[in-house]
Amino acid sequence: MGYGINVTKHPTKKWGTVITYSVTGAGNRTNFDKAMTAWKNALSPHIRFSEGPQGVGEVDVDIAEGARSQRSNTWTPKDGLNGRDSSRQGTLFLLDTASVGTAIHEIGHMLGLCHEQDRQNCPLGQARRANYFGGDEVAKQRWDENNPANSDYVSYGNFDNASMMLYGSGYAAKDKPSDGDVATVLKINGKA
Ligand SMILES: [Zn+2]
Repeated sequence: MGYGINVTKHPTKKWGTVITYSVTGAGNRTNFDKAMTAWKNALSPHIRFSEGPQGVGEVDVDIAEGARSQRSNTWTPKDGLNGRDSSRQGTLFLLDTASVGTAIHEIGHMLGLCHEQDRQNCPLGQARRANYFGGDEVAKQRWDENNPANSDYVSYGNFDNASMMLYGSGYAAKDKPSDGDVATVLKINGKA
């Protein structure tokens, strides 16, 4: 199914029924809009998205011109953990050169998902756990092997080879989340 935020440990990371957002930045938003539509279609009616004026919503979407920016595509909640930013200061930063699939992947982080290759029961082996060795999310928010309930991120269901969150799965060229991605987002956010 998927790998994502442990909402038993972090209950404020759950999104409500409607996620409000605003869009800023000079970049072209076409691929972001397609990615958002893919998630809207997949999650409706359990979770909906509503665009509003800047400074009001829960999420600021900042779309930069890819040719002019050195930054990377990221979901950056204030607490550094994937999922809802309960401080309402989370920014979804995207380059307009990002594919629809890459934008779906970043929105996946916003919705609570982590990289599928980093889950504890990943059948691909540690060589694929780029983040673990790269010092990224799993290294910082590591598994607590002896007390899984204390881990910031937990595995939901079985490994999903088709996940948009799996490195090496070709997600950047895909145009919608996998069934496992959708089921995990609904589970994390208490909608299933
Ligand atoms: Zn990622």
